[in-house]
Amino acid sequence: MNNQNVQSVQDIYKKLSLPFWALLAFSFISMSVLVAFVTYNQNQKAIAASVHLAKAVIAANERKMNSTALDYGYWDQAVDNLVDKPDANWADNNVGSFLFDNSAITSSFVMDSKNKPVFSFVEGKQVDENPLKQFSDGLDILITKARSGDPASLPMPAAGFLKYSGDIYFASVIALTTYTTSSEGADVIRQTRSVLVLTRKMDEVFLSAMSRDYLLPNLRIVFPLDGPVDASTPLVAPDNSTIANLSWNPELPGTQILPWLIAGLICIFLLMAGTAYIFLGRARGFSIWLSDAREQAENANRAKSEFLANMSHELRTPLNAIIGFSDIIHNEILGPVGTAKYKEYAHDINDAGDHLLKLINEVLDLAKIEAGQKDVVQEQVNLNEIIKSTMKYFGNWATRKQIQLNFELNDDDLVIISDKKALTQIILNIVSNAVKFTPGGGTITCSSSLTKDRTVMFSVMDTGIGIEEADIQKVMMPFGQVSPDKTNNPDGTGLGLPITSKLTNLLGGQFLLKSKPGVGTQVTISFPAA
Ligand code: ATP
Ligand code: MG
Repeated sequence: MNNQNVQSVQDIYKKLSLPFWALLAFSFISMSVLVAFVTYNQNQKAIAASVHLAKAVIAANERKMNSTALDYGYWDQAVDNLVDKPDANWADNNVGSFLFDNSAITSSFVMDSKNKPVFSFVEGKQVDENPLKQFSDGLDILITKARSGDPASLPMPAAGFLKYSGDIYFASVIALTTYTTSSEGADVIRQTRSVLVLTRKMDEVFLSAMSRDYLLPNLRIVFPLDGPVDASTPLVAPDNSTIANLSWNPELPGTQILPWLIAGLICIFLLMAGTAYIFLGRARGFSIWLSDAREQAENANRAKSEFLANMSHELRTPLNAIIGFSDIIHNEILGPVGTAKYKEYAHDINDAGDHLLKLINEVLDLAKIEAGQKDVVQEQVNLNEIIKSTMKYFGNWATRKQIQLNFELNDDDLVIISDKKALTQIILNIVSNAVKFTPGGGTITCSSSLTKDRTVMFSVMDTGIGIEEADIQKVMMPFGQVSPDKTNNPDGTGLGLPITSKLTNLLGGQFLLKSKPGVGTQVTISFPAA
């Protein structure tokens, strides 16, 4: 492979591989984002579900404590023995050690209507303690709330979380209301209200049982300033402030499946990268093969062109002799020929030689252009001048054929950088076709112009026989001739148009042929202005 082909293979490889790697990178990034999103989403859903569960567990505990408190609020015997005729023994057997042993109530207190402790039990033992001093923030609110209900209606417990020496308690307070019947026997007179306070410490035992029963791993109490936690729900004090949070480490399904997702992602990525690598490898092989094939075709074409160029050159020398000598014989320059038929034959030989020489010259020209061996000179050329000097050749011919030749040449200085000889050849080919293929009475208009984007144009428009749309490609190929009548084109070889278009391109211009059968043909060549 030559250097140019190596370069073009590398270019093809680069052009092919870039979008592949870009697609791969894009897929990888978008899949990673998707994995991150799925993981996050799954985790958030699991956290939300566990928070919902924890709230339900707290509410269930609250209901349980409230219903225990409510039992005493309703119970006449409790009101009798705790308020009317306080009985320490009864209190211990029904409120103190009883509730500690059977309902895990950590402490229970009976307070009279003036908030003086009547009975105080802590962990089942009677003590001399005032709960209002222990649970200084919030118990008074619960007591006031429990007393505030209508005494004629059923008592309603007031509940909330309280804090005491670093521990959190759940408290439920119920009013113990006594009633007396009036002397008339009908009216119920409200007595001042005592209260029963039940508290439950949220200790290790309680939390670990809850953690186990409700699948809330590492359930613990954290305080608001302890820093961020995975999942938590607030424990609300009677004044509606958050005194602590119940927190746990929820199961995070997203995080659990993340390693699998990452492994899958890497597998997919490797698979895609492998496929891309194999594809690009094959594409590279294919482009090398194409490039080799192109190189071979170029070499073959070059060899053909060289062969043609050499052959044409070799043929021209004897042909010139044939033309020269046949002319001498035909014109009897060295003396009479004698037999008239010989003279006629000499003329035919001369004609045939001329035709052959024209053909060889054109073949040589095309071969040179295709082989990249056609030398062109780059000089400043005035297009209008070349048109005018070239048109001299067509005046007589056009008059003979009774064709009107019009000129619409632009006055501007139509200067281009080109090769005078090659440009003349181009114009000759185009105009000779127009004259050849336009019947008598027709018109040929040659025009030149300079467009706004500084393009110099030369156009030849005839009202001749025209070319079928389907034949245009054919006439641009070497030896492509389509005109049905050979009489007006006896010497035509079909090389004029291919040479003209290739030469125009070689000079940096553009070639355009438009035609309609029966209407005419227009050929335009354009070059950038100098
Ligand atoms: P050469 O130019 O080699 O003497 P040629 O004129 O036949 O021979 P081209 O100039 O290549 O060859 O043209 C190819 C064919 O295109 C012509 O034979 C003719 O059929 C058609 N053709 C070209 N110019 C015109 C035109 N102006 N009007 C109609 N047909 C045309
Ligand atoms: Mg021609």
